[in-house]
Amino acid sequence: MSDVYRLAFLDGLRPEADLTVSQWADQYRMLSSKASAEPGPWRTNRTPYLQEPMDALSSNSPIQRVVLMFAAQTGKTEAGSNWLGYVIAHAPGPMLCVQPTVEMAKRLSKQRLESMITETPVLSEKIAPSRSRDSGNTMFSKEFPGGMMLLTGANSATGLRSTPCRYIFCDEVDAFPLDVDGEGDPVSLAEKRATTFARRKILLTSTPTVKDFSRIESEYNRSDQRRFYVPCPACGVMQWLKWSQLKWQNNDASTAKYQCESCREQFSEINKPVMLRKGEWRATAPSDGKTAGFQLSGLYSPLGWLSWSDMVDEFLRAKGDAPMLKSYVNTRLAETWEEDYASKVDAAGLLERCEHYEPAVLPEEALALTVGVDVQGGGGSAGDRLAFSVWAWGRDEEGWLVAHQEIYGDPCRPEVWKQLDEVVLREWPHAAGGKLRPDVVAIDSGGHATAEVYQYARERGRQGVVAIKGSSQRGKPPIGKASKVDLNSSGKSLKRGATVYPVGGDTIKTTLFGRLKHNELGPGFLHFHMDTTGEYFEQLTAEKQALRFVKGFPVREWVKKPSARNEALDCLVYAYAALNLMYQRYDRRTIWDQLERRLEQPTAPLRSKKAAAAGPAFVNNW
Ligand SMILES: [Zn+2]
Repeated sequence: MSDVYRLAFLDGLRPEADLTVSQWADQYRMLSSKASAEPGPWRTNRTPYLQEPMDALSSNSPIQRVVLMFAAQTGKTEAGSNWLGYVIAHAPGPMLCVQPTVEMAKRLSKQRLESMITETPVLSEKIAPSRSRDSGNTMFSKEFPGGMMLLTGANSATGLRSTPCRYIFCDEVDAFPLDVDGEGDPVSLAEKRATTFARRKILLTSTPTVKDFSRIESEYNRSDQRRFYVPCPACGVMQWLKWSQLKWQNNDASTAKYQCESCREQFSEINKPVMLRKGEWRATAPSDGKTAGFQLSGLYSPLGWLSWSDMVDEFLRAKGDAPMLKSYVNTRLAETWEEDYASKVDAAGLLERCEHYEPAVLPEEALALTVGVDVQGGGGSAGDRLAFSVWAWGRDEEGWLVAHQEIYGDPCRPEVWKQLDEVVLREWPHAAGGKLRPDVVAIDSGGHATAEVYQYARERGRQGVVAIKGSSQRGKPPIGKASKVDLNSSGKSLKRGATVYPVGGDTIKTTLFGRLKHNELGPGFLHFHMDTTGEYFEQLTAEKQALRFVKGFPVREWVKKPSARNEALDCLVYAYAALNLMYQRYDRRTIWDQLERRLEQPTAPLRSKKAAAAGPAFVNNW
C-alpha cells in the first residue's frame, strides 16, 4: 500500500483520501526513544480509544471539529502528533498549531516534532533538516510539498493572524488566555484562518480546569459528547468507566478494583486490554454531523502506563488538599473542578466569631497598622461622609479590626479632612507597651471629591497617606505601581499633579473572602472585636462572586447586592492594599522581622528596599 501512495506523490497526483490517520500511524509512525516511553512502531491497538478521534481527523471523514477532553497519560498528545504526520505525509495543506504560549510552541517544535520527523522516514523525506540553510524548516515553520506547518502561542495575536490554514490544532486550550492582545479569544482568532476551506479540520484538546470556566468543557458540551463504553468482564454489559465505581479497602491503594454498575461484580485491571479492545465510542447527545467530542479519564490508561492503584494512591494523597485534589480531578479524571465561587460568607456567622479584645489597645501580635478610607458623596442615599477602618496586622497577615467609623460631612469641604487628621496622626497604645501610628493610609480617589483626595494625600504624604484607585479587572496585583495623574475625573487639570496607586480589588476580595471563610486561628485569620456591629458585617458581606458572560465566555465578577452598602468591605480592601504597599517598599522576606524589631527598638528605622527612593513617607511612625 505504501508504495502506491508514494508513487502517487511522485507523480504529483493528489493522494487517495481513503487512508485514515490511524492507518497511516500504524504503517509509518515511529515513536522516538527521546520522546516516548515505548519507542518503536506506533500501534493503535495499544490505545484503541484513540482510533475514532484520529479517524475523525482523516480526509474521508465528514467531521470538521474534533474535541478531546482527555486525562493526562492517555495518549492524546500522540494522537495529535499522528495527525501532524498524516497531514505532512498524506494530506498536505497549510496548518496552524497553537500551543498555550510561544515558549511552549518552541518546546513542541524542538522536542516532539523534530524527533518525530527524524525518526519517521516518510516525514524526514518531506522536511529538510533544520540545520541546512534555506531548508524551509525553522523553529516556527515547517515547509513540506503541498503544505506548511506554522507553530505559535495563544499569547501572540500576530502568530494567530497568519495566512489562511486548512488545518487548525489548538493544544491545551484551557491554558489559553481569555483574550490575546485585546483582539479577543485566541481560539476564535485561530479558527478564523480556516473559514475559507470547505474541507477544514479543527482539533481542540485539553485536560479541563474549573467548572463553568473550562473552554474544553464548553466545547465538549456543545458536541455529541461521546463516552467510551467497555464491556464488563463478568456480565458483558457495556458501560463507561466512572471514578465512583472504583473501590478499595482500608486506604490500601493496591486493593483497587472496578465495580460493574450492572452486576456489581468487582474486577481487577488485568481485564483492561480486552475491555479496551472491545470498547466503542457512543454519543450521549445529539450530533450536528460536524463536531465530535470525546471525553476520557485516566481509568482507561493502558496497562503499564497509569494503573488504578496509582490513581487511588494519588487520590489518597491529594484528598485533604484542595489544590492537589483539583489537579487530580482535572488531569486524572478529565473532569472540571467545581469551585464554590458562588458561596457567600455569612454575616451572622462572622458576628458569632467576634472575640473579646480591647479595640483601643493593639493586640500583642500586631506589628503594623493600616487604614482604608472610602469616600462617599454627591448626595448618595447614605449621605456625604468618609468611612474608614483601622486594621492591625501581624505575621503572615493575621489581621485585627481596630476601628470602623464614619466622619460625616461633604468631602469637598476641608472640615472632614481635618477630622481624618485625628485618625492619621493618632497613636494607638500597644499591648506590649509603646505606641503605633498608622503606617499607610489608603484613600479611594475613584469616587467623589477626587481633587480633595489628591490634595490631602500630597499634604499628608509624610504620614503615609496615599491616593488609590480601585480596579475590578481580574488578575491585577493587590496594589500596582504608582502613576502620575495630571487631570481629575472631570477633566480639569491639576496644579501639581497627583500620585495614584491602582488597587486590584477583585484579587483582594478573592483573597479576603477565602480568609473570612476559614475558621482556624493563625496565618491570614481576620479578628473582629465584640463591639463590631451586625451592620458592619452586613456591609462586609454585601458582595458575592457571580458569573457574567463576556463575548460568550464566563468570567467571575464581584457584584454588590442591590441597594446594599459595602463601605466596610471597601475599607478592608483598601487597608489590605495599604499593607501590600509596605511590601513594595520594604523587603518582603524580612519585613515582619523588621517590624518586630521596631516594636522593641522604637527608634530603629525600617530598612527600605530603596532607601533613597522610598522618600520621607516612611519615617519612623513612633
Ligand atoms: Zn457486570
